[in-house]
Amino acid sequence: MTAEPTLKAATEFTNPNLEVLFSQQQISDRIRDLGAEITRDYLEKDLVLVSVLKGSCVFLADLMRAIDLKMTIDFMSVSSYKNELKSTGDVEILKDLSNSIRGKDVLVVEDIIDTGLTLTRLLEILGSRGANSIKLASFLDKPEPRINKALQIDYTGFVVPNKFVVGYGLDAAGRYRNLPFIAVVKDPSRA
Ligand code: 5GP
Repeated sequence: MTAEPTLKAATEFTNPNLEVLFSQQQISDRIRDLGAEITRDYLEKDLVLVSVLKGSCVFLADLMRAIDLKMTIDFMSVSSYKNELKSTGDVEILKDLSNSIRGKDVLVVEDIIDTGLTLTRLLEILGSRGANSIKLASFLDKPEPRINKALQIDYTGFVVPNKFVVGYGLDAAGRYRNLPFIAVVKDPSRA
C-alpha cells in the first residue's frame, strides 16, 4: 500500500514563519486614502503612473483603481548594482518606458525605498526627458538605511523598521510576492 503524501502544515498565506506587519485590511484602507489624495492633487494634470518592475506591480494595480482620474500607466525595469562591494548607485535600464513622458505629470510608483540609491538615479534619468512634473509614490518607506537623505517621497503607504519585509509584491529570492499582506520572515533559515 502506498503512503498518503503528507499534507503541508500551512499554506503560504498562513505560513507560521511569517509575522504580519500590515494586514490586507490595513493595506486596502491606506491605498484608498492615498488614491483620494492623488486624485485631488492631479485633478488638472496629465497623470502617468510609472511602475518600477517587478516589486511595485501589486501596489500599482491597487493604487490605480483608487485614483478617479483620466490617466495612463507605463513600466520600467532597472537593475541596481547594490550587491557589489561598493555601491555606485548606478542602474542599468533593462526595460524602458513604452511612451514619451514629455509634458506629462509622472508619478513613479515603487514598492520600497531603502538606501534610495536606485530611485535617485532613476529620477535623474527620467528628469532629462521633458516631463512637466515628476513625483514619487512608495508603498513602503524604510528610512533607517537611507543613503540619499534628500530623496523626497511624496506619497508613502507605510513606514517600516529596518527589517527585510516580503509580500504585496516584495520578494525574497523570487518568493512571497503573492502574499496579500506585508510580513517579516521570522527565521530566514527556514524560508
Ligand atoms: P534601494 O536602492 O532603495 O536600496 O533599493 C530599493 C530596492 O531594494 C527595492 O525596490 C526592493 O527591490 C529592494 N528592497 C529593499 N528593502 C527590501 C525589503 O525589505 N524587502 C524586499 N523584498 N526588498 C527590498
